[in-house]
Amino acid sequence: MAVTPILLEGVPDGGSLDLAAYERLGGYEALRKSVGIAAPAQIVEEIKRSGLRGRGGAGFSTGKKWDMALGKQGKVKYVCCNASEGEPGTLKDRFLIKANPHLIIEGVILASYTVGADEAYIFLKAKFEEEYRVLAGALEAAGHKGYWGPDALGRGISLNVQIFRGPDAYIAGEETAMLESIEGRPPRPRQKPPYYPIQYGLYGLPTLVNNAETLANVPKIILRGGEWFSRVGQPTSPGTMLFSLTGAVKRPGVYELPLGTPLRHLIDEVGGGIAHGRRLKAVFPGGPSQTVLVEKDLDVPLDFDALKNIGSGLGTAGVMVYDEQTCMVRLALEFSRFYQDGSCGQCPPCELGTSNITKLLVKLEEGQAVQKDLDFLVQVFGLVRGRGYCDLVSSAVRSVEGTVKLFRDEYEAHIRHQGCPLPKPESAPKALRV
Ligand code: SF4
Repeated sequence: MAVTPILLEGVPDGGSLDLAAYERLGGYEALRKSVGIAAPAQIVEEIKRSGLRGRGGAGFSTGKKWDMALGKQGKVKYVCCNASEGEPGTLKDRFLIKANPHLIIEGVILASYTVGADEAYIFLKAKFEEEYRVLAGALEAAGHKGYWGPDALGRGISLNVQIFRGPDAYIAGEETAMLESIEGRPPRPRQKPPYYPIQYGLYGLPTLVNNAETLANVPKIILRGGEWFSRVGQPTSPGTMLFSLTGAVKRPGVYELPLGTPLRHLIDEVGGGIAHGRRLKAVFPGGPSQTVLVEKDLDVPLDFDALKNIGSGLGTAGVMVYDEQTCMVRLALEFSRFYQDGSCGQCPPCELGTSNITKLLVKLEEGQAVQKDLDFLVQVFGLVRGRGYCDLVSSAVRSVEGTVKLFRDEYEAHIRHQGCPLPKPESAPKALRV
């Protein structure tokens, strides 16, 4: 399958593009072509024509979001670029920052110019030290070149771009929790509605929030046209995506592929297949928060709609692969602990739900559970799903519920055998935490 990279175009294997190399490849051309020349509405039209959808998990239309920003009565004050990924198995934003930082920066500047913002933040977790160094160096270089600053490109447009190093907590990546962090408070999601950032964002002012990979697509769309972008990938999921492939494959890594690439191709051809001659048991196609798939699902195209149609989702394209030695109960417990630790605790169904799911999984894993514990686990899913300010509680449910549905025999065997009936794996399956 021929692959034409968009985000990693020109990036040497294992390397990175500095400012000079980025400019040689046409970097900042989109900015020169647009700032003070193209009308913001024209840029939004181009983004809409491209069909670009958000790469941070929800897959919302970027053009529609920008259109809403332009339609605001009060001017949009801030742009926030979310590069605070924390989903287990997802590494793509950090990979992109290190490989092509100027592409993200140019996207941030273009977004700010388009919606009229004069302040932009790029939000990273504090622990992303190397990414911070790379991005801070690139941002400074771009500022010296006049791509942002008090008089960007000498065209009378003022833009200040800064990097905000936020908390390492998983929940700090949720868009409204990110805004709380920037305002100096603990990262707790705000209730939506009414606190949609485009209306009540940073410091209560209209704010455009986009994921880093989403914004990195913008310069190429402006330069080559929305029509060109819309022809890559799938009609309703155009473009490429950075897939973080982890787990039981021979060649884990971050790969840029057109949306719509079959999952089987990613695992077998790109990832080299399952390591150690074992068989595949389960795949989470978009991090643990997207319902688990099995062998029969492998021909599904990796795009937003096809995965949704089979009851799962693309999420952040963190494809986590598990082989036949994996105990699904132990894996579900690992995920459940992650979400329990990640809950900010302000919604009782989330706090109680994640702790109850974990407790029941511990009982199952330790061989203390009886049938009614498994029945109660299933009941808890229905009681807490969708009952939080943010999606974390539903993510916690999805990460476990699919394993109960597809591997119920394994759960029941834990009850019958009073513990895990599978042979001890040579290496314990671990939900990759990064
Ligand atoms: Fe916090 Fe959970 Fe409520 Fe989200 S759902 S706001 S993580 S308590």
